[in-house]
Amino acid sequence: MSKVLIIGAGGVSGVVVHKCAALPEVFSDILLASRTKSKCDAIAAQLDRPIQTAQVDADNVPELVALIQSFGPELVINVALPYQDLHIMDACLETGTAYLDTANYEPPDTARFEYKWQWEYHDRFKQAGIMALLGSGFDPGVTSVFCTYIQKHYLDEIHFIDIIDVNAGDHGYPFATNFNPEINIREVTAKGRYWENGSWIETEPLSVKRSFDVPENIGTPNIYLMYHEELESLGKHIPGLKRARFWMSFGDSYLKHLEVLGNVGMTRIDEVEFNGQKIIPLQFLKALLPDPASLGPRTKGKTWIGCQITGLKDGVEKTFVIYNTCDHQACYAEVQSQAISYTTGVPAFIGAKLLLEKKWTGNGVFNIEQVDPDPFMDDLNAYGLPWKIIDGPVVQL
Ligand code: NDP
Repeated sequence: MSKVLIIGAGGVSGVVVHKCAALPEVFSDILLASRTKSKCDAIAAQLDRPIQTAQVDADNVPELVALIQSFGPELVINVALPYQDLHIMDACLETGTAYLDTANYEPPDTARFEYKWQWEYHDRFKQAGIMALLGSGFDPGVTSVFCTYIQKHYLDEIHFIDIIDVNAGDHGYPFATNFNPEINIREVTAKGRYWENGSWIETEPLSVKRSFDVPENIGTPNIYLMYHEELESLGKHIPGLKRARFWMSFGDSYLKHLEVLGNVGMTRIDEVEFNGQKIIPLQFLKALLPDPASLGPRTKGKTWIGCQITGLKDGVEKTFVIYNTCDHQACYAEVQSQAISYTTGVPAFIGAKLLLEKKWTGNGVFNIEQVDPDPFMDDLNAYGLPWKIIDGPVVQL
């Protein structure tokens, strides 16, 4: 029986709230707070049981502290945006409350997401005797736990990890993003980078492309090498790792639109003068694009996200592929969200459940691959994201 404060009321939050509300024996009291209270109320209205809602600016630490003190949660689930991570961690420290998120901190004025800012909080969380769990979404999150599960049960040592994220869903729009457009476009237009023997190898944005026949008849998409934040933490936490890369599928229409938008300056994140007002082009573009939370009823098809992992077992090189497939329409039928929000929200809910059940404990700041993968893998099967393992590679990369 625990109180939880959920911050943010977007696509991912909707799933987290649905899942937590369906498990009252763990999540006995829920407060959903965000910048726009009406969005919290709209999510609350979809549920079978009452929850509390509130307005909060998560960049305002005193406001957050007052909210946490008045409600008294054991855990704060941060499903707002990466810009809020440090402010919410500050408020958790001040109130002695555990913290969980799905994306690492990113400064608003540079598209540079890395863990160092949050890792710097480790000693303070340790001293305060509270846990911060970072990256409890799908990627990072499930993909990181897939790696530690293979490490624990299938291989003696992991040498190569390729994380592959395929979204074969179709929402019918010529261009829309499946999660927050600003975060998504900043991520996709950044330079590619992969981790090799302790160093970063940089590539031009979306310049390395492969194609493969995705298991379970998902299709034959093009996948592109990208930087993704779990490469940094896996490089630190998987002993013996030689290389870690991340690949994501994109359709031709999405890429063509992105190229044109980039060429005309619409993806810029610096301020420009417009009609006597300063605007950030990417934020203006966000206002024009479909809200990712509205894609649910229109999106058909499946996601396939997995890790191809090579290493040694009893001195012999072996490769395993571990993955989940998720159906957009099945997700919508269950929690009124498409699969991208679902595959992020369910792992955030499971991470929160394991913290509150004290199956995952620790004082300090931890990435999800630093805790025992087994209870999380059991809960993925139990709560909507079942996984499978294939012995042998599915793609030559
Ligand atoms: P949305 O944009 O749909 O939702 C973000 C929510 O945060 C909105 O409700 C927004 O409020 C709220 N918010 C923004 N700023 C503040 C603030 N200062 N104070 C309070 N609330 C605020 O994003 P998503 O739901 O798509 O994504 C949520 C998080 O999940 C992001 O951090 C994203 O990077 C992460 N993510 C992680 C993935 C993973 O696999 N690990 C995959 C996909 C997403 P308002 O409604 O007023 O705009």
